[in-house]
Amino acid sequence: MADSSTPSFKAADLVIQLTSSPKTKPDIGDFGTVFTDHMLVIEWSLAEGWEAPLIRPFGNLSLHPACSSLHYGIQLFEGFKAYRGDDDQLRLFRPMLNMNRMAKSAKRACLPAFDQAELLECIRRLVEVDQDWVPHSDLASLYVRPTFIGTEPSLGLKKPTRALLYVILSQAGFYFKTKAEAVSLWADPKFTRAWKGGTGDCKMGGNYGCSLSAQYEAEDHGCQQVLWLYGDDHQITEAGTMNVFLHWINENGEEELATPPLDGIILPGVTRQSILELTRQWGEFEVTERYITMDQLCSALKQQRVKEMFGSGTACMICPVGHVVYQGENLHIPHQDAQLTSRIAKELTDIQYGRTPCDWTLLV
Ligand code: PMP
Repeated sequence: MADSSTPSFKAADLVIQLTSSPKTKPDIGDFGTVFTDHMLVIEWSLAEGWEAPLIRPFGNLSLHPACSSLHYGIQLFEGFKAYRGDDDQLRLFRPMLNMNRMAKSAKRACLPAFDQAELLECIRRLVEVDQDWVPHSDLASLYVRPTFIGTEPSLGLKKPTRALLYVILSQAGFYFKTKAEAVSLWADPKFTRAWKGGTGDCKMGGNYGCSLSAQYEAEDHGCQQVLWLYGDDHQITEAGTMNVFLHWINENGEEELATPPLDGIILPGVTRQSILELTRQWGEFEVTERYITMDQLCSALKQQRVKEMFGSGTACMICPVGHVVYQGENLHIPHQDAQLTSRIAKELTDIQYGRTPCDWTLLV
């Protein structure tokens, strides 16, 4: 983690070069396909340290063909959103949690440390510059994608002596084409997303590229996402790129909202943390971070102890699970009234769009 003594770029040194040819804003297309007019770039080298941050017209990067992010996956990214409230104010949702997670991923990737508050202020300025791109809709938002790559211009696996931190912005509508409809999950223990001692708790591209063929296999079997299992007892870990929650009557007969613990193989989701904090404040049922195995889920389903199951993440926010296909069985998960899912979705969107005042949001 960076402290005030960490050498870092400073938002006060930010240089802004505005585009002379702003694009016309198209209708919101598929997620991540249309980008705004500007991007933030900050270069680092071992010899010179951090350069001044620069907001410049959006455009391609020029990379050395030996660039270490391309060869060895020395890179990471983040994702959060800017929302336009009914009061026309722009808000970022708990962005400091993303900055903290990014710093943790950077440490694991041997990329240089930076001051998280300084980066957040640079990002706030970028969103301000491209503020007209934040949709006037409480169904859409502007997705912020910080990216940090090793740009070492030579082969050989080593700590990069050059790196590039950049941030791009893209309009986001609904992530799932089926909107908040329940998703079906493909749970096949032959796939492992992450493992103890690995990088599953960091947001690095390598975790995602290697998950793609499982995702396509899920689709071949008529499912929308993969339910990632772990270990011989088939623990439930994550669903696609979402954290997972189970609302049920547990083995002791208690009403519980459970999600797997942060044991190093699970991405510490900002939405996950927010749902845990929110529902703990309600104090209406047990809220626990605990292991849940497929056996436990199957017996709870048989005994009709499952109320709802859902995924959580910035992209979809909260997404009910309707089916889990596991070992030849199509398990139906109750989701008809999706009471808890809808209540959480409403409380979180009310915060994000400024209808409920809350210190979880940062005004742009
Ligand atoms: N798990 C994985 C693997 C993810 O990629 C994401 C998306 N960042 C999440 C969970 C949810 O995290 P968050 O709530 O911070 O978006």
